[in-house]
Amino acid sequence: MRVEQADVCVVGGGPGGLMAGLLLARQGVRVTVLEKHPDFLRDFRGDTVHPSTLRVMDELGLVDDFLRLPHAKAPAMTMDTAAGPCVFADFSRLPGRFRFMAFMPQWDVLDFLAGAGRTRPGFRLERQAEVTGLVKEGGRVSGVVAKTPNGPLEVRARLVVGADGRRSVVREAAALPLAGDAAPMDALWFRLSRHEGEVVPTIKARAGYLVVAINRQTYWQAVQMIPKGGYDAVRGAGIERFRADVRRAHPGFAARLDEEIRDWDDVKLLDVRIDRLRRWYAPGVLCIGDAAHAMSPAGGVGINLAVQDAVAAARILGPVLRAGLTPGREHLRAVQRRRQLPMRVVQLAQLHLLGDLYPSAHRKSTDRPLVVRLNRLLPFFPHLMARLIAIGVRPETVGVAPDVRG
Ligand SMILES: Cc1cc2nc3c(=O)[nH]c(=O)nc-3n(C[C@H](O)[C@H](O)[C@H](O)COP(=O)(O)OP(=O)(O)OC[C@H]3O[C@@H](n4cnc5c(N)ncnc54)[C@H](O)[C@@H]3O)c2cc1C
Repeated sequence: MRVEQADVCVVGGGPGGLMAGLLLARQGVRVTVLEKHPDFLRDFRGDTVHPSTLRVMDELGLVDDFLRLPHAKAPAMTMDTAAGPCVFADFSRLPGRFRFMAFMPQWDVLDFLAGAGRTRPGFRLERQAEVTGLVKEGGRVSGVVAKTPNGPLEVRARLVVGADGRRSVVREAAALPLAGDAAPMDALWFRLSRHEGEVVPTIKARAGYLVVAINRQTYWQAVQMIPKGGYDAVRGAGIERFRADVRRAHPGFAARLDEEIRDWDDVKLLDVRIDRLRRWYAPGVLCIGDAAHAMSPAGGVGINLAVQDAVAAARILGPVLRAGLTPGREHLRAVQRRRQLPMRVVQLAQLHLLGDLYPSAHRKSTDRPLVVRLNRLLPFFPHLMARLIAIGVRPETVGVAPDVRG
């Protein structure tokens, strides 16, 4: 068994884990990030980088390089229902420099964060290291054990950060209590080519079918929402029927659907979950991002909330770690207290404000969802939605954390 020592071991090289690793290493903390995959090339993940994340990148002096990576800018999220088209979130009046949402493949975001981390001496990312359990001593977590191609690895650390996503091994091994809401829908992802300059509404709903389309320059990453647990029934009805359902919401995609969605290999299921840990921490361990709270894909908030958690965790815990101390219960609880409200506000909005957008087992999606009615009633509604989605409640700043380079 290879045994290594770090101040912090971050489990999971997703947006939350890499940002936490980068920010802690920037403060002079020695961080090892363990990621089970050999690369970041995973498709059908959250791709939406919101102004809250761009602001953090800006504070770190990274935003100009970041925005040089290929991305599409969305100044608004638009919706087209039977009640007519509307702007559902208008980013044009957001405070600050970033008045758009950037659509960027998640692997580019992760490569960028890993690259920024590597410029810090305290940052180490080990890929193909799958954490299988926690090391516990005297009632507290003191490290992790992982499988690697070179044999087992143990990383000992004063703090383990579980940033290992919706099926977190860390939260399970730490026996952290989980609460969940019944997610109304599941999502079927697929990809269609995009014609040069083609613009379509972000959300298109017709006759009980709802399709979200994300512009990835040369193609649309699209998702058809289906009732929760409805995948077997949809699959059983056949690929022809699936294409017909998408066509009902999006007639403009008709020809491409027939040519490009040939069988179920071209369609991926996202089992939507909305859950949250009641307690995000135990002695020696803290969960952030999806590991602490899986979000619905509505509004594309997942990456951004994970990043915000990482920023808060690094700001609160960095000085303690840098002083050579071990974060105690009060420090870990401070992270949860700081991040719990923003996360819960978004989950409640996803469930109640956007809930009737999606087809459920009991009804098809409505032709006049609540957000469309509010949009008609309240002229400021698209700006309010933009603020909630793009910046959220209680936005985080890196703050005065020292930037230790040597
Ligand atoms: C299929 C899919 C589609 C999605 N679509 C959307 C969307 O459209 N919009 C949206 O906002 N969000 C979406 N999400 C969610 C979004 O991707 C996440 O909210 C966001 O990435 C959360 O970041 P995170 O760092 O907390 O966790 P993750 O991004 O899940 O990262 C966790 C990392 O931990 C690694 N890991 C897991 N277990 C271990 C282990 N035992 N040892 C070591 N490493 C481990 C994983 O490989 C992964 O790299 C989607 C998620 C999935 C799975």
